[in-house]
Amino acid sequence: MIEQQLRLRDVADERVLAAMERVPRELFVPEELRDRAYDDAALPIGGGQTISQPYMVAKICEALSLRGREHVLDVGSGSGYQAAVLAELAAEVDTIERIPELAELARANLVSAGYERVRVHVGDGTRGLPERAPFDAIAVAAAAPRMPQTLYEQLEPRGRLVVPVGRFGIQRLEVIVRSPEGPAVVKSVPCRFVPLVGEEGF
Ligand code: SAH
Repeated sequence: MIEQQLRLRDVADERVLAAMERVPRELFVPEELRDRAYDDAALPIGGGQTISQPYMVAKICEALSLRGREHVLDVGSGSGYQAAVLAELAAEVDTIERIPELAELARANLVSAGYERVRVHVGDGTRGLPERAPFDAIAVAAAAPRMPQTLYEQLEPRGRLVVPVGRFGIQRLEVIVRSPEGPAVVKSVPCRFVPLVGEEGF
């Protein structure tokens, strides 16, 4: 997975590659799909949702430019896998999921993989997590119709928000930096995620 799906494509951040090498992805996929845990694909986790493709997890982490001391918000916990990788890259991770059963799944998976320090919350992540804000970085694992303004406002100055924007089939992964002049989109690449459902989602 690390060599063929990540490094040979275009993932160059050694911290991200090392983090993904450490997280046991098989503990975040349903038992009957364990033999496919390292496939180059998203996999179903229940509730019509998926654990993201490893490549997209790496691209999101790389875009956040984490150095180890940050406080990160992960929107769309799903299986908890992205949150675990973020926990390898930053000091503190909060993750929020709208489907209570998936939040419970993420919590159980994170504990079994040794990431009990990640805080799992249930709620509409398009509203962020005001009681834990501000964040140095926010990662969104579901596609929004437009940049969720509330999430942007929960960033520290120079903080980064990575969010897929667009409708099913035509989305771009946007990397937005909070700056004195307002949101600066520094990068945007094509991608495909499940929809973000909520007040500032679909
Ligand atoms: N990061 C996850 C990917 C899960 S797919 C992983 O690594 O497994 C995206 C998740 O976002 C789904 O679980 C979906 O239920 C959740 N989601 C969608 N809209 C949301 C919202 N407004 N707030 C929180 N979670 C949301």
